[in-house]
Amino acid sequence: MAATTTDGPGSLPQARRTSVLGVPVHACSDAFAAALALRRLGGGQIVTLNAEMTMAARALPELGRAIAAAQLVIPDGAGVVWALGRQGLRVRRSPGIELARRLLEHGAAQGWRVALLGAAPPVMERLRQRLAAEIPGLQPVFCAHGYQPPEAWPDLERQLLAAEPDLVLVALGVPRQETWIADLPGRQSGLWMGVGGSFDVWAGVKKRAPAWMGTLQIEWLYRLIQEPSRWRRMLALPAFAWAVLRGG
Ligand code: UDP
Repeated sequence: MAATTTDGPGSLPQARRTSVLGVPVHACSDAFAAALALRRLGGGQIVTLNAEMTMAARALPELGRAIAAAQLVIPDGAGVVWALGRQGLRVRRSPGIELARRLLEHGAAQGWRVALLGAAPPVMERLRQRLAAEIPGLQPVFCAHGYQPPEAWPDLERQLLAAEPDLVLVALGVPRQETWIADLPGRQSGLWMGVGGSFDVWAGVKKRAPAWMGTLQIEWLYRLIQEPSRWRRMLALPAFAWAVLRGG
């Protein structure tokens, strides 16, 4: 059984730090409250951990390091919740897309400086229009798509840091979004969170699995049907279950 502690980089009163297959995760019952507490403590990186990402973190040292250094790692995914349950920790699943949306809405109401980075250029364009219509008061201080040429990144990073954002949502895919946030020199306060395909969903380009599939814990099947090219990545799911059953 993994050790559970409130010490270390994840020292949040709302979130106990433990691990699944050696990858740190916070057993928090209210991810939104934990994120707000993190902001009050000066901010940091939020990672949303699922089974696929847990296996990727075991294979890719740079991703493992980014997750270990993150201030808040929330259990996003039925597999991670199930693995925590086997340690005797009952937690609610906290889908990253829902936490990100709640933080956006809360941030808009509170006058936070919001930054959005990632997704394809037309997706970012539609996202800006949709969010402006759907979230009153949201005025992003920085928006950029995620397909910039390598030489554009240093300047982009300077502009982003100069905007002094309170909330930065990064949709560059796993592991890039996590390692990019972790390695960004001069990252100050604020909440920095990788959001995977959330921009595509909010822009209306992709759909989330229907709620009943979430209840049956087969959201992965919906994703596979929508994006068959993900099959290879999804082999991580049975590997994850097998590793948890074997005891890590
Ligand atoms: N993306 C990007 N730049 C890249 C690669 C990907 O902006 O170089 C975006 C992509 O358009 C999508 C998101 O990153 O909006 C990744 O979504 P996905 O559903 O693949 O997320 P993951 O499953 O990796 O978390």
